[in-house]
Amino acid sequence: MVKTCFAIAALLAGAASSSRAQAPAAAPPYPAPKNAPPIVTPGITNSDPPSDAIVLFNGRDLSRWRTDNGGPAQWIVRDGYMEVKPGAGGIATVDKFGDAQLHIEWATPSVVKGEGQERGNSGVFLMERYEVQVLDSYQNDTYYHGQAGAIYKQWPPLVNASRKPGEWQTYDIIFHAPRFDEMGKVVDRARMTVLHNGVLIQNNAEVYGLTYNDRAPVYIAHGPQESLALQDHGNPVRYRNIWIRRL
Ligand code: MG
Repeated sequence: MVKTCFAIAALLAGAASSSRAQAPAAAPPYPAPKNAPPIVTPGITNSDPPSDAIVLFNGRDLSRWRTDNGGPAQWIVRDGYMEVKPGAGGIATVDKFGDAQLHIEWATPSVVKGEGQERGNSGVFLMERYEVQVLDSYQNDTYYHGQAGAIYKQWPPLVNASRKPGEWQTYDIIFHAPRFDEMGKVVDRARMTVLHNGVLIQNNAEVYGLTYNDRAPVYIAHGPQESLALQDHGNPVRYRNIWIRRL
C-alpha cells in the first residue's frame, strides 16, 4: 500500500513538473533586489547573541541600565543573573530602541509564594510602555490577559508554555514600534510577536495602547525610540542573557 502511494505520488509530481515546464515563462513579480542581505554570524545556540546584537546584560554588571529617574540601577547581580530588588523600582536601558528583536531569559522564584498576580510578577516593557507580562503561570490561576506572555490586559498568550517556578524561561519578542503623525495621533499601532520557550504565544498581535492595569488602553505619542524596561512588582524575579537587535 505504501509503495503504491509513493508510485502515485511520483506520477503526479512528474505530471505537475512537466505541465510547469510547458507553461510560458512568467515575468517575475518584483524587480530583483540589488543589495545582498547583510551577513550576520549567529550565536553558538539560538539563545546566544548574533554578531549584530547589542548585549544589554551579560551576567556581570548593570552598566547599560538605569533607574526610572536616571540613577544607577540597584538590582542585585550575582552568578550571571540580575534579580529584582523589591522596592528599588523598575530599571530601564540607557540606550533607546524602536523596531527590535529581543531575547530575554527570566525565572520566577523557586520557592512559591502568593497567588495569581502576586506570584513571580515582573514585566518586560517595550519602549517603557507596552508590557509583556512576566509571571509564574505554572499551575497558577489569574485573569487570562494577565498571565505570563500576555500583552497586559489586552491579549492573553495563545497557549500557556510556562516552565516550573525556578526554571529559566525565554521570551523572543519581535516588536514593531507604533508610529505617530505630527499631531501625536497614532497612525500605525505597535505589534508584537512573542515566542515563550520557543512556542509562539503572540502572533503579530496589535497593541491597543499603553498597558494600564486599571483603565482602557490609549496611545500617548512618544519618540521613535525609547528604553526597554523591566518591572519591579515586589517579587524577586531573575533575568539573564538579554540581547536586542535593531530592525
Ligand atoms: Mg507585570
